[in-house]
Amino acid sequence: MPHIHRLSDLLVNQIAAGEVVERPASVLKEVLENAVDAGARAIEVQLEQGGVRRIRVADDGCGIARDELALALERHATSKITTLDDLEHVGTMGFRGEALAAIAAVARTSITSRAEGASHAWRIEAGREPEPAALDHGTVVDVADLYYNTPARRKFLKTDATEFAHCDDMFRRVALARPDIGLQLAHNGRVIHRLPPSPPPARVAALMGDDFLQHARELQADAGVLRLAGFASLPAYSRASRDAQYFFVNGRFVRDKLLAHAVREAYADILHGARHPAYALFLELDPAGVDVNVHPAKIEVRFRESRAVHQFVFHAVRRTLAESGAGRAAEVSA
Ligand code: ADP
Ligand code: MG
Repeated sequence: MPHIHRLSDLLVNQIAAGEVVERPASVLKEVLENAVDAGARAIEVQLEQGGVRRIRVADDGCGIARDELALALERHATSKITTLDDLEHVGTMGFRGEALAAIAAVARTSITSRAEGASHAWRIEAGREPEPAALDHGTVVDVADLYYNTPARRKFLKTDATEFAHCDDMFRRVALARPDIGLQLAHNGRVIHRLPPSPPPARVAALMGDDFLQHARELQADAGVLRLAGFASLPAYSRASRDAQYFFVNGRFVRDKLLAHAVREAYADILHGARHPAYALFLELDPAGVDVNVHPAKIEVRFRESRAVHQFVFHAVRRTLAESGAGRAAEVSA
């Protein structure tokens, strides 16, 4: 008869990493979102070899106090929620307190941070004591040699170029969601994006192209509990793939069938065949009306009033297209 025993913390974290750390881009997502949650005004990302060799994110956020550095790397430790009620109204990107623990279990991870008001910075590696370090402000998270200790997972990594493309996409999502934050991305020493804080249209143009912006309609819809803003392409700018479709719910990039369907329906009469619209749409609603705690990566959401959300998004997009003249056919046939 096999004996039952408890798994070591490391193994527990490595198992959890299977859900949280799918590839370098998932590490980048978690570390970027932590910087955003820390109130950063400027974030700098350095990648090496598609992020497999290194992901280094520096921010000018609130920092982490020396005595909490070890906790930051522990599973189920977070500064973002305390009670179930907090969970239902969560306004931060993170709240599960598991990302850094999972990352540190499968990559050589260090955090250097200087908390507001501290006389100097401290640096920690998993399982070690913090050591004094030099840093003006904020936090630097350094994640090197992803999956160095889990060779089976390393085999699933694609080429550096493919992994970089996923990281780039992840960076773009955060940059679109937060035009107010200055963001920079470098890969193998080469700067790929340098984005100063900007008004939303300028940020959209920087990431999706001037051409998109010129062929897009700005969208503003407010139904009190539901608000939608952003840009949606006119038929003249349709695309062969769905590569330029960004939907955000309360600042979080999501991939949601219901929302995608609502937009597709709004275009149904004006885009035909295999053509797809491009859009960056931002839905805002009371956090209590949407459950983001469906999956560790929080890319799926569940709406409490899903029918109302579908209707609202559908009508908002369709009305915008109709006002531009593009949807006249749709209006007539409606
Ligand atoms: P979560 O984001 O869900 O709380 P994480 O494992 O990602 O969990 O991070 C654990 C904690 O470490 C956070 O709650 C936060 O207090 C702290 N932390 C992580 N990254 C940063 C950062 N860049 N700046 C300030 N604090 C951070
Ligand atoms: Mg986090």
